[in-house]
Amino acid sequence: MDIRDGFLSTIGETPLIRLSWPSTRTGCTILGKAEFLNPGGSVKDRAALALVRDGEARGLLKPGGTIVEGTAGNTGIGLTLVGNALGYRTVIVMPETQSQEKKDTLRLCGADLRLVPAKPYKDPGHYIHVSRRLAEETGGLWANQFDNTANRDAHRRSTGPEILHQTGGRVDAFTCAVGTGGTLAGVALALKAHDPAIRVVLADPHGSGLHAWITEGAPRAEGSSITEGIGQGRVTANLDGAPIDDAVRVSDAEALEVLFSLVRHDGLVLGGSSGVNVAAAMRVAESLGPGHTVVTVLCDAGARYQSKLYNPAFLRDKGLPVPPWLEPAG
Ligand code: PMP
Repeated sequence: MDIRDGFLSTIGETPLIRLSWPSTRTGCTILGKAEFLNPGGSVKDRAALALVRDGEARGLLKPGGTIVEGTAGNTGIGLTLVGNALGYRTVIVMPETQSQEKKDTLRLCGADLRLVPAKPYKDPGHYIHVSRRLAEETGGLWANQFDNTANRDAHRRSTGPEILHQTGGRVDAFTCAVGTGGTLAGVALALKAHDPAIRVVLADPHGSGLHAWITEGAPRAEGSSITEGIGQGRVTANLDGAPIDDAVRVSDAEALEVLFSLVRHDGLVLGGSSGVNVAAAMRVAESLGPGHTVVTVLCDAGARYQSKLYNPAFLRDKGLPVPPWLEPAG
């Protein structure tokens, strides 16, 4: 008998995949933690479950209660599915700029979806502030994924130890992009507790302030990126104190080249943040030299971005190269 007790017990314990094209190119072993195989389709299922359990433990979420959160989409999907399994309603506030696929998924899962215009964090109309006010007004639990460290604790207790177990502890470096910082910080804390020599490198898209935070001491953002769910302008509570050794900046063009190569050579169709993560892992591998092992995170699947990253018209509009097999026949 091997029967899982419902949705919640299928979160985590994801495979660690040796990525063929990136490993061959670098002469290193590049390993991707297959978080897109979580039941809600992303790395954020782990944080969603942890935030709900934290709300329950603190007495803020009662049977039949409501969870409210601001999200780029994946946390909202995780929270909605966890909420469904545990009997909570979910109200999800999301910037309207995020992919149609994530909006559709949230609606089909039954979330009460509130789309708001994309605004800078300092604007009271920013989706995170809107979600906090909604929670206050309705008495719902504000999950607060950015600044509730139950998020990074989920990764310190599950994702990090899983990676150590799956590799026998033989890891030279770990690379990861940041939305809330929960994945990077939690995994980094677990890896460094095992071996402080494991190199932790933040992977940052353009438009995010964190590369400058690591290399210059304060966040400073420049440019923009078509990736979703990553990029951050401030040091969240989840990031604060994370043991990070270095940062690399990854352009959209570089991330897409990696994404499309993973489709063609590894049979993996992934989202943009996975492209940033694997591109950073390859750069770190090149700097370490052949024979090293670099681990990164495959955050979600490409189907969530079919209308963007895998859409020739979208790519052309952004001035990005279109791989020939994406062009319609004839
Ligand atoms: N990739 C994707 C696709 C995401 O949705 C997110 C979360 N917003 C991340 C990466 C970043 O994860 P974290 O919030 O743990 O930093």
